[in-house]
Amino acid sequence: MKLTRSALVLVALVLWTFALSGPGSQVRAEAEAPWKEAAVRMSRLQALLEYFYMETGEYPPNLKVLERFFNHGIPDEAPKVTVPTDPATSKPFLYEVSQDALRYRLAPPDPGAYGAQALTLETLDWGWMAALARQRRAEQMGMECRLKIEVLATQCEMYAKDHEGKFPTRIEDLVPKYLPRVPVCPATGQAHLLVPTSTGYFISCPNPNSHGLKKFGYASDKGMVVEAMENKPRPARPASSPGSSPSPGPSPSSGQP
Ligand SMILES: [Zn+2]
Repeated sequence: MKLTRSALVLVALVLWTFALSGPGSQVRAEAEAPWKEAAVRMSRLQALLEYFYMETGEYPPNLKVLERFFNHGIPDEAPKVTVPTDPATSKPFLYEVSQDALRYRLAPPDPGAYGAQALTLETLDWGWMAALARQRRAEQMGMECRLKIEVLATQCEMYAKDHEGKFPTRIEDLVPKYLPRVPVCPATGQAHLLVPTSTGYFISCPNPNSHGLKKFGYASDKGMVVEAMENKPRPARPASSPGSSPSPGPSPSSGQP
């Protein structure tokens, strides 16, 4: 199952509305409390972060990436997305992202500027939607891995041209003349594999499982080989009735006439 882009945009707008009607919406009414303006801006920033997450399956490594992401390919005359800054200091908000890029925390650079208010915003809880976003990211990594495999195959052919038709027997044979380094699968960071075959070579993703595949590679005689696993796991859905399916017990009438 795939979410269309327009569906994602719609969800983003819903999130955006939610963010603005959250803690920030009172700010307009009581603009005298400076921390409230900061809360509004952080909510807007959060909406950008959550949209980014929907599109990529992870949160950005830093806030600068956000502007590049949103303004890429936008015509000059169109309004640009700017990352909101802290109203008290005009500095960027503090943004901490977890190592797996799946959680973040936002805070003003100087909370002291707002008195004793603890002012942090954390990752929205997406529930089962998070699984869809991860699936989207997995699809992107699959495309990236495939591209690297195809580049490897092209370089093997170049190698053969230079070596009287002989293909490389190890992937390292291509380095550094045909490739600056051995490419790695984006899903696992492991190096791609090259196995000699009777007809040439087979280049493979080191861990097709990580793409939900049984086989994922390029055979010199067949081209791309993509073999699905028998039971591809689907993203988790909200459980309809967890633990409420009691199995019928033994018949009470057993042994009775
Ligand atoms: Zn791979």
